[in-house]
Amino acid sequence: MKRMFIRAIAPVLLLACTLTACRAGEPIADGQRYGTDKPTDTPVTVSTPSPSPSPTPTPTTEPEPTAKPVNFSVVKPYEVGQTMVIMYHGIVDSRADNEVYQRTREELRNDLQALYDRGYRLISMKDLYENNVTTAAGYTPVVITFDDGLASSFSLVEENGVLVPTPGCGLDIIMQFAAEHPDFGMAATFYVNGAPTPFAGAGTVAERLQFLIDNGCDVGNHTYSHADLYTLSAEGIQREMALVDKMIREALPDYEPIGVAYPLGKRPESDMLRPLVFAGESDGWAYTYEYGLAVGQSGVSSTPNRVSFNPWNLSRVRGGHGSEMDLWWFIEQLDEFPERRYISDGDPNTIAVPNEYAHNVDMETIGQKELLLYDLPTE
Ligand SMILES: [Zn+2]
Repeated sequence: MKRMFIRAIAPVLLLACTLTACRAGEPIADGQRYGTDKPTDTPVTVSTPSPSPSPTPTPTTEPEPTAKPVNFSVVKPYEVGQTMVIMYHGIVDSRADNEVYQRTREELRNDLQALYDRGYRLISMKDLYENNVTTAAGYTPVVITFDDGLASSFSLVEENGVLVPTPGCGLDIIMQFAAEHPDFGMAATFYVNGAPTPFAGAGTVAERLQFLIDNGCDVGNHTYSHADLYTLSAEGIQREMALVDKMIREALPDYEPIGVAYPLGKRPESDMLRPLVFAGESDGWAYTYEYGLAVGQSGVSSTPNRVSFNPWNLSRVRGGHGSEMDLWWFIEQLDEFPERRYISDGDPNTIAVPNEYAHNVDMETIGQKELLLYDLPTE
């Protein structure tokens, strides 16, 4: 399959970059609201194009399935472009205008329809963070997150002895939409606290979390008591992280949570304390995490190969309509400036970027992926 693919885009420059991936680097300044993504004249440091590595011979004699060649001139992949990580909380029947952290069921359905119609496709936060973008060629990955473990975002009821999502909860709406639009994908990420217990309703905590994992969702840490990490001591931070880590891991022995959503969007105050969110120990329970999510409205997101990617402070957009930097504000921005959007080439092993935007690639993160730089067609 890979051989076919490389042949299909033969005119582009193939750059096999063997530098070690460097994802968990020093956090950079807060806020990742990107600039204009306009082409610049900055020379790009790809002066020594290496020949592409020979494809590994396949030991089997079976013919490989025919891969559909991706025409870069038509698809215009841009795999360090902008994506959205959407932040939701409660999903309700109705809300006051100033309840900006709630979304009605109808609004959530409209959000999903608008994203689908515009060519966004669901991906889990874990896959986005781990750079495992399997989104079909020509489409944009988008992540849905829910904070606080609210029953209106997800809960279970027992129906004829089987646990099913409560009709009208956030996950139920997403699962229904995904069933009606199978190419939309099915994923959402839930950041939970320990107290109160996540997701009231039927089932044990283990059954609830397992249902999420079984249905393409992720679970992450939102601290035990929805703590203000900015004010806590080293001991306090580690206690808050460890208690939820223990709860998740005891409920899901085969699952490894890797993400944290900062409650209230607040991180520990000092550079000395911030690493304790990602590795620490409390009462004999050690934990590690890889990425931290800011609160919406902090901006659009990207994948690890973008120069400004900051694993410890990834941005989110708030699932909302009407305020600058909410979900709908960015939907309209990306409608107006489609050239900024992340567009997948359909292959998670390659990072395809127009030459004009090569300055947005962090070369040190390419690792085992293959960087494909190509010229956009002249209009
Ligand atoms: Zn929260």
